[in-house]
Amino acid sequence: QCVLVCPTGALHERQNVAEVMDALSNPDLIPVVQIAPSISVSVATEFGLKPSKDVNGLLYNALRKIGFRYVFDTAFAADVAAIEMAAELIDRKGKGSNLPMFSSCCPAWVKFVEQWYPDYIPALSAVKSPQQVMGSLIRNYFATENELNPSKIFSVSVMPCLAKKFEAQREEMTTRGLSDVDTVLSTRELVRLIKLYGIDIQGIESQHPDKPFNIRSSSGKLFGISGGSAEALARVVYHKLTSKELNDSKITEVKIVSGVKAFSFNADEQTFTFAVVNGLKNIHSILPVLMGGDVKLDYIEVMACPGGCVNGGGQPYVDEEKYVKLRAKAIIEIDEAEGIKCATRNPAVQSIYDEFLGETGSEKAKKFLYTRYSKREVLL
Ligand code: SF4
Repeated sequence: QCVLVCPTGALHERQNVAEVMDALSNPDLIPVVQIAPSISVSVATEFGLKPSKDVNGLLYNALRKIGFRYVFDTAFAADVAAIEMAAELIDRKGKGSNLPMFSSCCPAWVKFVEQWYPDYIPALSAVKSPQQVMGSLIRNYFATENELNPSKIFSVSVMPCLAKKFEAQREEMTTRGLSDVDTVLSTRELVRLIKLYGIDIQGIESQHPDKPFNIRSSSGKLFGISGGSAEALARVVYHKLTSKELNDSKITEVKIVSGVKAFSFNADEQTFTFAVVNGLKNIHSILPVLMGGDVKLDYIEVMACPGGCVNGGGQPYVDEEKYVKLRAKAIIEIDEAEGIKCATRNPAVQSIYDEFLGETGSEKAKKFLYTRYSKREVLL
């Protein structure tokens, strides 16, 4: 009955609710959870609320009531990822190498490149996805700051996506022998967990995520929709090169042609051209055109699910496309309403750089926030 679903979700959805409940009842473990940018606008109807109502604060409270010791917003890590990707893109453009840069925040797209276009693997951004960046910061920074044993942290992420379960298990997504993320719950599993613990979402107060990852920019939230990571990246590139903010949001003016959108902006006497591929449909014919066309692209964002993560394969089922559009609209409205629109303006992110990472692209950043990809066999 679902009209639009993630085309690359696992055929057999792996369930992790029991595993999480076991960890929550284990006194030796420190349960920690992060929730992806698109989740808060996708679950309202499951709890009898208005479709696409933003329930972020209610989810933090519910997750604490369930027993998670610390709750975080993956959008914070999306800000960090956008800053590192901007440094990577500016460096590649300066050298004229590995352009256009491909997004790597969608694991279904990354796996697709590894299987079908291994020659393009160097084009993939080497910055980990926001899920993995957050997992790594929790294990390698937050644990130290709070005198916690990193191996005792049970790190859960709630994602719109079944491919994220695969991504978290990749051997490349480990640091110092520990996985960045232990277990991934889909949005549907989150709803089940909240109901199993008997929590009345409508009867609880809104809360905030835990420090030090408690502030996000609105562009971190945009990662939940198609075009969002491109917009977030454009804002950071522009700000880094001009010290000004890119005021005209590109996300509402991009041209839509056969599932591909493109936009350009000028910064520091350079023109940057980004393309956004909305869904993997027809990608085998789209990709050669984008790579060999007259317009030289600097960045290509590909999200496997049409519309992006608001329409992921782990989200609550909806029987009309309009509800997916409402989720996307809710995220755009959050961006329009909020004041911190660029990741570089996020004071909490700035503190992490001051206290831990140092400069963008530093050795520490490379060690904890970057990864590598490699060719995979296609199993037919
Ligand atoms: Fe997962 Fe989002 Fe990619 Fe869909 S678009 S596969 S939900 S990361």
